[in-house]
Amino acid sequence: MAYDDQNIFAKIIAGELPCHKVYEDDHSFAFLDIMPRTAGHTLVLPRTAAENILDIDAESLAHLMATVRKLAPKIVKAMDADGFILQQFNGAAAGQTVFHLHVHILPRKEGGRLKHHGSEDNMADEKDLEAVAARIRAEIDA
Ligand code: AMP
Repeated sequence: MAYDDQNIFAKIIAGELPCHKVYEDDHSFAFLDIMPRTAGHTLVLPRTAAENILDIDAESLAHLMATVRKLAPKIVKAMDADGFILQQFNGAAAGQTVFHLHVHILPRKEGGRLKHHGSEDNMADEKDLEAVAARIRAEIDA
């Protein structure tokens, strides 16, 4: 499947659709998942057009993972979490629903609930998402 430059995440990076942004730099862009599996569920994307992990050059992938490495502990701290899961789906059969490469960061608390992936039942309230994004941005800027 060829990269579709009209996918939702391409439009978010281009500023054509809204998001609760927590971080951006020359190579990466990160915002909150609107159907969070845990509080603080964040998506980290490369700016470069890549459908999945097999569709990106090694240098750009290294930039992406460096951003994941930078943000994960900040997100954990901002959410008072105890650990985190990284998730990354390649292809519809694997559960990928948006075809611009992204890494999920899921902060986990001891005994906390992990909701289902991509379930509309998880749709978050805009005000709650903005409050979470503000906490994460403050931790990143600290
Ligand atoms: P994946 O299944 O890995 O492709 O994950 C796509 C993720 O994007 C899911 O966890 C969705 O909840 C999330 N998502 C879909 N649309 C948006 C959006 N407009 N803004 C933020 N997250 C979204």
